Amino acid sequence: MNAEDGNNERSPRLDLSLRPPSAQPPPAPEYPQLSSTLPSSQIPNEESNATPQPNIETSNDQQQHRRRLRRRRTRADMTRIEPPYPWATDKRAVVHELKYLQSNNIMKIKGEVICKKCEMKYEIEYDLMNKVNEITRFFEEEIDSMHDRAPNCWTKPNLPNCNFCNEEKCVMPVISKEDDSKINWLFLFLGQFLGCLRLKQLKHFCAQSNIHRTGAKNRLLYLSYRALFHQLQPSPTLNIN
Ligand SMILES: [Zn+2]
Repeated sequence: MNAEDGNNERSPRLDLSLRPPSAQPPPAPEYPQLSSTLPSSQIPNEESNATPQPNIETSNDQQQHRRRLRRRRTRADMTRIEPPYPWATDKRAVVHELKYLQSNNIMKIKGEVICKKCEMKYEIEYDLMNKVNEITRFFEEEIDSMHDRAPNCWTKPNLPNCNFCNEEKCVMPVISKEDDSKINWLFLFLGQFLGCLRLKQLKHFCAQSNIHRTGAKNRLLYLSYRALFHQLQPSPTLNIN
């Protein structure tokens, strides 16, 4: 048994508290408006006797859905959700603190993965405190060389080997493309998989965490790691400034 297991009070010097957010970010213009017109290649021609299907309703619905999704990704959405995991709260992109997890005996964190080689989907599980201690140590050792940017091992995550086909570095976390509220943030944090997220998904996390969403991906990743660390340990015990 590792002497550090179960002892989160050792993580003591890093202050991962985020600086107060600057002004509310302006609505992001970066998502182009989707055109409802079909590209000319898809316009039914006279060879097709099928009734043309402009399908305006569906296309309106889709546009509304996309608009809602875009809104959720550009500003904080404080509506409550059904917590998708025992370690997640009812707020989007917010996980429970370590104290809560420990007192509720939630010490194993699971997540779904898929092998890129054999395509097997399965779950892997992390020991919460082992991983938190590992990441704390990493922060402590590397913080000075990070310069507020995620290091390479975060931008290009070290993928695990497959338990089924035994190929190396080929197992990716399964991440919902459709629904940001289903993202398993704590699992991605503990596995140091946040770099597998799309930029839009990271921006969603940043919007929910009141982090200014502009900047390169490695900057957003760095801030996301800090923010998740801070969610787990909100007391200002860690000093990495
Ligand atoms: Zn495999």
